[in-house]
Amino acid sequence: MMRPLVIGNWKMHGSQASVESLLRELARPGEQLPADVVVCPSFVHLQQAIGLCEGSPVEVGAQDCSAQDSGARTGDVSAAMLADLGCRWVIVGHSERRQYHAEGDELIAAKITAAISAGLNVVVCVGETRAEREAGDAHAVVAGQVRGALAGQASLGGIAVAYEPIWAIGTGLTATPDQAQQMHAFIRAQLPGQKGVETNRVPLLYGGSVKPDNAAALFGQPDIDGALVGGASLDAGDFRHIIMAA
Ligand code: PEP
Repeated sequence: MMRPLVIGNWKMHGSQASVESLLRELARPGEQLPADVVVCPSFVHLQQAIGLCEGSPVEVGAQDCSAQDSGARTGDVSAAMLADLGCRWVIVGHSERRQYHAEGDELIAAKITAAISAGLNVVVCVGETRAEREAGDAHAVVAGQVRGALAGQASLGGIAVAYEPIWAIGTGLTATPDQAQQMHAFIRAQLPGQKGVETNRVPLLYGGSVKPDNAAALFGQPDIDGALVGGASLDAGDFRHIIMAA
C-alpha cells in the first residue's frame, strides 16, 4: 500500500503570526505521522514556513510556479527559485488558477515539466464544474485534463493527481466516497502507461471540502491515496484530525 499523502492548500490566507501558530501545532520536531504531510502557504510565507518545519515530518510546497526557468516575467516565481528555497512540492493547475488566471492544459503541462526539472514534486489538479457533471460530461472533462497535463511528460515520477470537483471546493459539498472512488479509478485508468512508474503508484488525492468528519470514509476507498485540503487545513486541530484519519 502507498503511504498516504495529505496536502494543505492555504490559498491567499494568513499572516506571519498565523503561519507561526499553525506550524507550531502541526510541525512537531521528531513526530511520526501516518501520512506524508505538506503545507502550501502563499509565496511570501514560504521561507518562514520552511524554517518552522525544519526537523519535523512536514514538508512545504508552493501553490503555483512559472513555466519559465527565468527571465522577464514580472511577478512570476520559477520552480528553481522554489527548490532553491527548500520547497519540495508545488500545486499546478488548481481550478482557481484555471478560472481566475485562464490557465489551460498546455500551460499546466509546461509548468509540470518546469517543476519536475527543478526537482520538485508536483500535484496537478483536475475536476469538473457542477454544470459539466449535470450534463454528464464529468468523465470527458477530467480525462481531457489528465491527458492534457500528463501525456507529454517523460515520466510520472514525482507527480500526484488531485481530483477536485469544482462544485465541492470551498462549498461544504463533498463528493460521496463512492463518487470520488469511481472518478479516482477512472483517472487511474487514464494515466499514461510506460512513464517510469506503475500507474498504481501514482498518488491520487481527493480535494473538495475534506473535513474531519468525512476524511476517514474518503481515505477508506481503494483509489484514494490522500487529500488536498483547503479550508480545513487552516485549522491545526481539523488538519491534524484529517492527517490522523489517513
Ligand atoms: C482546494 O482549494 O484545493 C480545496 C480542496 O478547498 P476546500 O477543502 O476548502 O474545499
